[in-house]
Amino acid sequence: MPPLLVKDLSALWTGDRVLRDVSVHMAGGQVVEVGSVDVPSGAVVIDGSGRIGVPGLVDAHTHLVHAGTRLGDFARRLSGASYTEILEGGGGIHTTVAATRAASEASLAGLARARLRAMLERGVTTVEIKSGYGLDVATEVKMLRAARAAAWPIDVSTTFLGAHAVPPGRDRTEYVAEVCGPMLEACAPLCEAIDVYCDRGAFTLDEAASILGAGKARGLALRVHAEQVAHTGVAALAARMGALSCDHLEQLDDEGVAAMAEHGTIAMLLPGAMLYLRDAPPPVAKLRAAGVPMAVATDFNPGSSPVADLWTCATLSCLTMGLSPEEALAGITVHAARALGRPGKGWIGPGSAADLAIFAPPPGEIADPRVLVQHMGGHRAEMVFIAGRRAC
Ligand SMILES: [Zn+2]
Repeated sequence: MPPLLVKDLSALWTGDRVLRDVSVHMAGGQVVEVGSVDVPSGAVVIDGSGRIGVPGLVDAHTHLVHAGTRLGDFARRLSGASYTEILEGGGGIHTTVAATRAASEASLAGLARARLRAMLERGVTTVEIKSGYGLDVATEVKMLRAARAAAWPIDVSTTFLGAHAVPPGRDRTEYVAEVCGPMLEACAPLCEAIDVYCDRGAFTLDEAASILGAGKARGLALRVHAEQVAHTGVAALAARMGALSCDHLEQLDDEGVAAMAEHGTIAMLLPGAMLYLRDAPPPVAKLRAAGVPMAVATDFNPGSSPVADLWTCATLSCLTMGLSPEEALAGITVHAARALGRPGKGWIGPGSAADLAIFAPPPGEIADPRVLVQHMGGHRAEMVFIAGRRAC
């Protein structure tokens, strides 16, 4: 593969700052140099003038593999039912579980591929995908296999979420034992991380501790759906156990903030779910003051966050949670990559991955990556490179 030079980008988000009028030299799947670069011999040259460059975006929390619709839940929530009421009444996640159990692996992979394709066209090059709509061994395995089958050319990180909900009619103690035993055994070879939905109506703090402990013993990274509907204390617990991220955090308390700061846990903010469930925002000012890195993800799922556009979530993180445009950009790039254990991604500089997305500014706008946050969603990349190859 010849070296590649994206020449004279008007603006580049590096992961922590905006550079003006720079060229990016990529070779061997990595960025070699950023700045005023002479054309390397044999290089393919792309004109970046008037364009905005960003590292390939990272969506670090999705439930992208699923079948069926949750339109009924949407209408019920709008007429006043809460998420927990719908879940405990057998709707919510359970509706999607029934549809996902009934779907073939090939049809799940086909749906996932279509959804990933749409993300790629918006500049997303790395996506986390959770299981959790199976709640039995066979369907959890089927979901993870479908996620992996759909991945290329996107870098997909899979997470085992057998502890998404207790299936109706199952004894919860027996179900937790199944998650920690046969389900984990079957799913661990197909994933990088384990996740638990610890909340009112879902799993308790003690159950979360045993499930995360079992995953950790199996060599998996830890992440957790934490402090969303009710405060449970799971963010502090997961941080102390070495979790890569704690996600949602609307009900996070000071102890949780302190534990996350101490252990370097990423705060994964999910403004789509916050908006759809009409929750109060997480304590962003406290997270910022404590130096907790904040990532932003879609939480793309058919019920509480039917939002597949990461740019829209970046904008919502500013409008509904109070992030600055720079924090939102870091949230969908460098901090999100760290939350997936991919320190070479989400930034552009010598030695980084050659994952680069190039955008034209909206008509009449200036070439600045912050305008892609200011203007809400729908931004389509002109070109996307993954490991230095044109992917879109
Ligand atoms: Zn989620």
